[in-house]
Amino acid sequence: MAKKTLRDVEVKGKKVFVRVDFNVPLDQQGKVTDDTRIRAVLPTIEYLLARGAAVILASHLGRPKGRPDVRFTLRPVAARLGELLGREVLFAGEAVGPDAETAARQLRPGDVLLLENVRFYPEEENNDPEFASKLAALADLYVNDAFGTAHRAHASTVGITAYLPAVAGFLMEKELETLGRLLSNPERPFVAVIGGAKISDKIKVLERLIEKADFLLIGGGMANTFLAAQGYNLQASLVETDKLDVARSLLAKAGAGDGRVVLPVDLVVAPELGRADVRTNVPVDRIPAGWGAFDIGDETLNLFAEKLATARTIFWNGPVGLFEVVGFDTGTLELAKKIAAADATTVIGGGDTIAALKRAGVADKVTHASTGGGASLKLLEGRELPGVAALQDR
Ligand code: ADP
Ligand code: MG
Repeated sequence: MAKKTLRDVEVKGKKVFVRVDFNVPLDQQGKVTDDTRIRAVLPTIEYLLARGAAVILASHLGRPKGRPDVRFTLRPVAARLGELLGREVLFAGEAVGPDAETAARQLRPGDVLLLENVRFYPEEENNDPEFASKLAALADLYVNDAFGTAHRAHASTVGITAYLPAVAGFLMEKELETLGRLLSNPERPFVAVIGGAKISDKIKVLERLIEKADFLLIGGGMANTFLAAQGYNLQASLVETDKLDVARSLLAKAGAGDGRVVLPVDLVVAPELGRADVRTNVPVDRIPAGWGAFDIGDETLNLFAEKLATARTIFWNGPVGLFEVVGFDTGTLELAKKIAAADATTVIGGGDTIAALKRAGVADKVTHASTGGGASLKLLEGRELPGVAALQDR
């Protein structure tokens, strides 16, 4: 990797500020309901503690709009992290200020301190230099392990690197290497599967994957727009009528008719979203008048499975149907199982996609489930992430 990591610096006896992504779901009682993101940074924390560093953790949680809000306190995360680490995790009720300073000053090697939500301060998202310098003053070294926030230039992801030596943590390293390899040197055949509601969110990624992948399988709402661009009548389905030209030019880029882009040949349709009970599977040219498409059909799933079976590398982003609704989730859940069972390196990105993977019960059966939705797509667009650019070069 081009950037320095934890392994490249001395950490013994240091106070290390680690920016993590602890933006986890909480229930009504404030208990952590999914600790995947906490577990994902344990290797970095445990490495530092084992080598005699004290760890100061900072994260955002939710969207508190720049002021303290009990709904978004990180306190429950400190409790869950303590259970996972098997040691006490101290908590400071602020990210900067006298309490945070005192708590940081008193840390001994092997201690862990979690600061309160950095987004309780408007200065965080404004990348305010003074706020960044106050965060930096708590520590001797900065580690960024918050891949999910690396596409944002905030005080705790970018600003702080002006005041401390800054390196990547192990999760950041793994994300950059795994996703980076998809663009630089994937084992082939490389099959990419893209879904989700709209083309508009993912035009750049689609362009990039059309260049890099051997096959691009397209499902979900965005497939409707591609099909409409080919002249099919999608009836009441979600279609971005202002993106038909974009869809046509993406298809042209792939080389017309060479089969590298695989679109649905059949769809699961219903008169409306709330009528999954009368859903039926039809070819793309037989959607009943006034009905909409909410999932890929059986034939399409078979077609996708054929390509996936030949793959040595698979990347998947975006559900291929309206998977939140029972009855329209079959395509997505079956696809998840097929990808998980494939004899290939399997890399999954996107918040909804990972949720689908979990619902299919195969989240631990893939090579890498990225912790960063937006960040993973930005990286696949071939863009440098500000939070990564700010780290020291090797
Ligand atoms: P991710 O979060 O994994 O990047 P997206 O947010 O891009 O995925 O896409 C997920 C959304 O796309 C889901 O809310 C899903 O309901 C929607 N979607 C997928 N297929 C369709 C469809 N045929 N019609 C409408 N919405 C769809
Ligand atoms: Mg999403």
